[in-house]
Amino acid sequence: MKTLAGSVTLLAICGGAFLVPATAQGPKKEKVDLIVSGGTLVTMNAERRILEDGAVAVKGDGIVAVGPRTEVEAKYAAALFLDAKGKLVLPGFINGHTHVPMSLFRGLKDDVTLEEWLTKSIFPAEAKNVTEEFARWGTRLAAAEQIRGGVTTFADMYYFEDAIAEETKAAGMRAVLGESILDFPEPDNKSNAAMLDYTEKFLKRWQGDALIHAAAAPHSIYTCSRQTLQDAAALARKYNAPILIHVGETRKELSDSREKNGTTPVQYLEKLGILGPDVLAAHCIWVDETDRQILARRQTGCVHNPSSNMMLASGVAPVVEERAAGVAVGLGTDGPAGSNNDFDLMEEMDLAAKLQKISKMDPQALGAKAVVEMATIDGARALHLEKEIGSLETGKKADVILIGLDAPNAVPMYNIYSQLAYALKGSDVETVVIGGRVVMRDKKLLTVDEAAAIAKAREYKNKIEASLK
Ligand SMILES: [Zn+2]
Repeated sequence: MKTLAGSVTLLAICGGAFLVPATAQGPKKEKVDLIVSGGTLVTMNAERRILEDGAVAVKGDGIVAVGPRTEVEAKYAAALFLDAKGKLVLPGFINGHTHVPMSLFRGLKDDVTLEEWLTKSIFPAEAKNVTEEFARWGTRLAAAEQIRGGVTTFADMYYFEDAIAEETKAAGMRAVLGESILDFPEPDNKSNAAMLDYTEKFLKRWQGDALIHAAAAPHSIYTCSRQTLQDAAALARKYNAPILIHVGETRKELSDSREKNGTTPVQYLEKLGILGPDVLAAHCIWVDETDRQILARRQTGCVHNPSSNMMLASGVAPVVEERAAGVAVGLGTDGPAGSNNDFDLMEEMDLAAKLQKISKMDPQALGAKAVVEMATIDGARALHLEKEIGSLETGKKADVILIGLDAPNAVPMYNIYSQLAYALKGSDVETVVIGGRVVMRDKKLLTVDEAAAIAKAREYKNKIEASLK
């Protein structure tokens, strides 16, 4: 309907038209860009409210209303409607730890120890193959896969993160991207000075970006000297940027730290002044009660990666104890090469719950609702982005996913959280909105050339295999 002269409206009926007074139409509706209409909203707000026949109104990149469909539709008029009737509507999933370009190494070498995988396969493969172009194609492939599985935000640690940021932004995804800093030459930078210089330019370039949070990623305590860790943290803090690091992943890391530093990895990092509310620590498996208290007190976020931890036999993270201590624990896929090998965060929800149950021999150890929290609002807290993402609430970014409920594995549904954690799959995600932009609609990707990314992945396979001969 078009308003004419503010007082009358032109209505087209059967090819004809006539004028009606504006007073007959009720109050004028506020214009928004998008309404996700109908469906069951799993808001993940503080009350964990679930709303049948709800709606989400989106203006620009943010949510302006969440409520019963009839109320939202009475107040707002949208340019675009996404019909969510019969579907679940959730905040987008948050993949708290991964290395997206490594999608091109998926399955290169599996079923070996972390040390053998790193030294015999990945380090040589990276030295010979990882270029900026490689990082771009790997990111595109990963973006396609992550969007398909309902992931709207991810945290990454790799090389050429500036190129990864450009590709991530082009795909319309939100991310915390950490440029890796290590004490040996990297594919993109050969010295510590060059790494810090690259990272500083990277942090400066993306300041204030709506989707990209540039970060520094000192790899771990076993690949970075004390000086490197402190330099990386100081640089990040100069720009109010996050710090991404692997912490307490293996038993060897713990025993080496005890021998070399006289304490645990967490307490060593605490001593160096690294831990804080801007740090995202991946794994946190080999952490004791004192470590957990420190992580909670410092408001350092942790990311649990059950597939990776099982595949590499790293150990079982004390997720239940971490949550009880007040640590924000998110979920991640890690990998995808050698330690997963995919980006399906719904699979991680399923495995996270089951891994705690079996390791404690207690089916109540970690439940369905808890792992959905870890994939959404707790992941947001771990990434220190809870003011922006993690739930469907007015004022937050419009990262919204629609999950279909018509597949055989989706019915019947007695409990929504159980269905999400144990029955539904990443492939049940149908539509994905990130920052108000529809990036997948009815399983059709709109921002990534998926066919090109798949073709390129096959090309890289031949190239990588040949390089290792
Ligand atoms: Zn990792």
